[in-house]
Amino acid sequence: MTNNTRSEFDAIVVGGGPAGSTAARRLAQAGARTLLLDKSEHPRYKTCGGGVPARTVALLDVSIESVLEGEVSAIEVTHFGKGSFVKQAGSPIAYMVMRDRFDDLLLHAAEEAGAEVHQAEAVTALERHRGASILRTARGSYTAPFLLAADGATGPIARWSGLGKGIATSAAYEIEIDAPAAALDRWEGRANIDVGYKPWGYGWAFPKQGRLSVGVVVSPGHGNSIRRWSQEYLARLGLDGARVGSSTGHPIRYRRSDQDRIAQGPVLLLGDAAGLADEFTAEGIAYAVHSGILSADAVIGALNTDGTSSPTDAARAYERAVNREVQPELNAARAISRMYYWCVTTWARLALSVSQRVDYFWRAFFRIMRGEARYDTELGRWPGLAWTPKVL
Ligand SMILES: Cc1cc2nc3c(=O)[nH]c(=O)nc-3n(C[C@H](O)[C@H](O)[C@H](O)COP(=O)(O)OP(=O)(O)OC[C@H]3O[C@@H](n4cnc5c(N)ncnc54)[C@H](O)[C@@H]3O)c2cc1C
Repeated sequence: MTNNTRSEFDAIVVGGGPAGSTAARRLAQAGARTLLLDKSEHPRYKTCGGGVPARTVALLDVSIESVLEGEVSAIEVTHFGKGSFVKQAGSPIAYMVMRDRFDDLLLHAAEEAGAEVHQAEAVTALERHRGASILRTARGSYTAPFLLAADGATGPIARWSGLGKGIATSAAYEIEIDAPAAALDRWEGRANIDVGYKPWGYGWAFPKQGRLSVGVVVSPGHGNSIRRWSQEYLARLGLDGARVGSSTGHPIRYRRSDQDRIAQGPVLLLGDAAGLADEFTAEGIAYAVHSGILSADAVIGALNTDGTSSPTDAARAYERAVNREVQPELNAARAISRMYYWCVTTWARLALSVSQRVDYFWRAFFRIMRGEARYDTELGRWPGLAWTPKVL
């Protein structure tokens, strides 16, 4: 279906997180007239552990060196603070950032590539006219044949468009700690992962410059006590007396099936808006960046040289690409999550002892974090692990 409406922009991206900025940069690089709208003024705080999986770097064509706060190449595992053991990865598996600086860097890269960026301008309404999207803000209205909704886990566009209805939502809580020097030394280059939360979930302590990011994420429907659990976890780390910079909760969304529509007509959902976070680590930054690339490529492919466009083609191409390249990872991560967390909550001692002794799975996990392997291909090597207790 071709839409002949002439618009002031080829594409409007809503949201300047990693998904939106990546999409806007790639669109502008390809010569598409791109507008990015974000309700916040950047740099803005984003509730997040700020652990960027190392594989993200290969997806980004922007250096993140200037915003690096540290790196993690070892994981210490505990079960509610006990039974500690450390696994060394040998090289970084994740880079530590503060999201305000990281997101600001990506937003500026989009602007430098030629995208028009409007900050502190929230989208307040969406209308359709002859196949095009009209976005209203307090400052005006903007029209484009393509709308890339990268407005995060709480943004309105998925709801307004009737997309992503089956996406599951869980809670995560994050506390930024101005940690004492001894704690910073202890955690330099390593992260703590504290397991035992039912049905799945974990606490994390990530090292940053002069502070630690400490938090807890739990499975959908089990977030009522998350604040208390975060405080208890902080106490187990011996950090309950440390100065708290900020403490906030925020949802994370998980797309569990490729039947869940994330693109239709002119609207494409990206990143958290599309539920592209995995249920083993709950990380979403790499998938957000990946969806930014896939959505931009789908839109570029549907922009015709005569100025017309084919939104339906872009939506189909994008959803197919996500189903082919991202969803198998999310499905496999969910299966691994069910199996692993069920074991560590049901037979804690045995599971942790096996986990400590068997390096094979750790090597596979480190390879996945570095982008040298994928959850689905690793799971495929072990068909027996596809058995998963239905606890999520
Ligand atoms: C506590 C917590 C810890 C996490 N830790 C990690 C981690 O360590 N590693 C990891 O990989 N992932 C982590 N995640 C997940 C990660 O934060 C998200 O997956 C990631 O931010 C998704 O990026 P995004 O670009 O899709 O959305 P976001 O980063 O949420 O960006 C959305 C943007 O949309 C804008 N917006 C929203 N509504 C509107 C509107 N109406 N108009 C205009 N703009 C709007 C917002 O201002 C925002 O800038 C964590 C999440 C939580 C909650």
